[in-house]
Order: sequence, then structure tokens, then C-alpha cells
Amino acid sequence: MPVPKRKRSRARRDSRFANKGIKVKAIAGCLNCKDPIVPHTACQNCGFYKGVKVLTTKADRKVKRLAVKTAKTPAKKASESQAE
Ligand SMILES: [Zn+2]
Repeated sequence: MPVPKRKRSRARRDSRFANKGIKVKAIAGCLNCKDPIVPHTACQNCGFYKGVKVLTTKADRKVKRLAVKTAKTPAKKASESQAE
């Protein structure tokens, strides 16, 4: 009967079981943008949960920042031209 030549090290043995606890996560689709999301959480892409906007996303902040920037710059130039 064949017998293992050497004792298998603890690291080698334990690395075999390292991925045993990993389970496949459930994935649902966002109702608003169809992006894959974890169920019962708000969508990170569009910020919607059950059809209601609950998060401000990175894209929202970018749009807002741009709007503030564009609103500020012409007003500043106008006030500068009035001063001259
Ligand atoms: Zn979404």
C-alpha cells in the first residue's frame, strides 16, 4: 500500500482549507440602472434603493461641483469687469 513519503506541513495542509469558508455572494440587479448589487442594499452606482434615491453618488457630487464651478466663474468675471 502506498504511503506518503513525508509529513505534510501545517501550512500546506491548512492552505488546502483556506477557501473552505468562502461562499458565493447573492447578487441582485438594481431596479433603476440594472447594475449588479448585493441584495437589500442601496445601489452604489445610482444611489437608489427600492426606487427611492437614498445616496449621493460620486457622479452626483461631480455634477454638483461642476454646477457650482460654472455658476461662480462668470459671476466673478462680471464683478471684475464692473470694478474696472
Ligand atoms: Zn442602480
